[in-house]
Amino acid sequence: MNILLLGSGGREHAFAWKISQSKHCSRLYIAPGNAGTASCGQNVNIKATDFEGIKKFVLDNAIELVVVGPEDPLVKGVHDFFLADDQLKMVPVIGPQKLGATLEGSKDFSKQFMKRHNIPTAAYASFTAAQLEEGLKYLETQSLPIVLKADGLAAGKGVLICETLEDAKNELTAMLADAKFGAASSTVVIEQFLKGIELSVFVLTDGKSYKLLPSAKDYKRIGEGDAGLNTGGMGSISPVPFANEEFIKKVEERIVIPTVEGLKKDNIPYKGFIFIGLMNDGGEPYVIEYNVRMGDPETESVLPRIKSDLVELFLGVAHENLSEKTFEVDERTATTIMLVSGGYPGDYEKGKEISGFEGIENSFVFHAGTELKDGKVVTAGGRVIAVTTLGQDIPSALAISNTNAQAIKFEGKYFRRDIGFDLQ
Ligand code: ATP
Repeated sequence: MNILLLGSGGREHAFAWKISQSKHCSRLYIAPGNAGTASCGQNVNIKATDFEGIKKFVLDNAIELVVVGPEDPLVKGVHDFFLADDQLKMVPVIGPQKLGATLEGSKDFSKQFMKRHNIPTAAYASFTAAQLEEGLKYLETQSLPIVLKADGLAAGKGVLICETLEDAKNELTAMLADAKFGAASSTVVIEQFLKGIELSVFVLTDGKSYKLLPSAKDYKRIGEGDAGLNTGGMGSISPVPFANEEFIKKVEERIVIPTVEGLKKDNIPYKGFIFIGLMNDGGEPYVIEYNVRMGDPETESVLPRIKSDLVELFLGVAHENLSEKTFEVDERTATTIMLVSGGYPGDYEKGKEISGFEGIENSFVFHAGTELKDGKVVTAGGRVIAVTTLGQDIPSALAISNTNAQAIKFEGKYFRRDIGFDLQ
């Protein structure tokens, strides 16, 4: 079948790599893709949010399955767009409709969902601009630190952890009264601070049943020892050693099943991935957030561990018979190290030639911010390349990821050398 994948990051290169191995895949197109996805299929120059452009391409190229990588097209309603169009409605889309995508698009919506279905999460209250005074009073009753979250999408910047009451009051005022994060902070969720260690679990669902995919931990900060500014993610490890069988059982019983059942009860159709950001506090799981797609760079360590045919699973999602599909996971550990442009997550230069690919052995090289220019692979973003290795344990996989991270070269390259060290 002809398949169209939307997106252009390391996550999408990992998807393209996995989809292209499927017995069901005859042609794979990636819109818009990057220099890496071009080796798994054909890149097409259409933005993932250009719905009319996507429609034309799907019809012209007899596309039979659409897989959505990033959240943006989902939150903007790409799946609804397909269902509302007579010519497109037979083409299955992997990724929820707009209503389901609100689990990521609105933190207030997702907190209400969790509360309604008794899913463990931090205590919270939400306030709009008209309720600023109430919000300021509420802050006085809360313990510190306290977490303020812009309700809408704010590119990972809309969450503030405030250590003092004064800071929390100032920030709440800036978000509600001065639109610090624009429309995204017209509602603010004030949330209890959770302590513990973070990790993520991933679910693929057809709306009826689900497959629990491997767990992963990502490393958000730019500096070693998890210091400095937040990034899109500097590396990831899968599985997470502290997410043992007992812990995952709790996650499944208290979070995954109530989430899938809750979607059904609320009449929220959902066909796609659910990324559940968790806090492990002394062996007890709490939900920090839902995302409605896979994570990046978690996908780069999760997909290489999935042995089953991914398109077979997607067809199970499309035809609502996912429960009949076999699902097999590679027991080995995957380590992913992200190579980034010098200066990232601040300003950085693009267009630097990347070399050293030919010397890479025993790792997967997933392209993130890269493009082809005059036959050369050049940098085109902050996060440039993800190097993933499968090994018997974290140290052996990491040693190879590190060697290969050094072998790939571009001016200004930076990567963290401590990914996974806290888990060994
Ligand atoms: P955005 O919507 O701006 O893209 P996001 O979706 O990344 O943000 P969250 O994942 O909810 O926002 O929060 C970002 C980070 O803040 C989390 O990964 C976690 O480290 C921290 N965090 C969020 N909520 C809490 C909490 N209740 N307690 C402790 N830390 C938290």
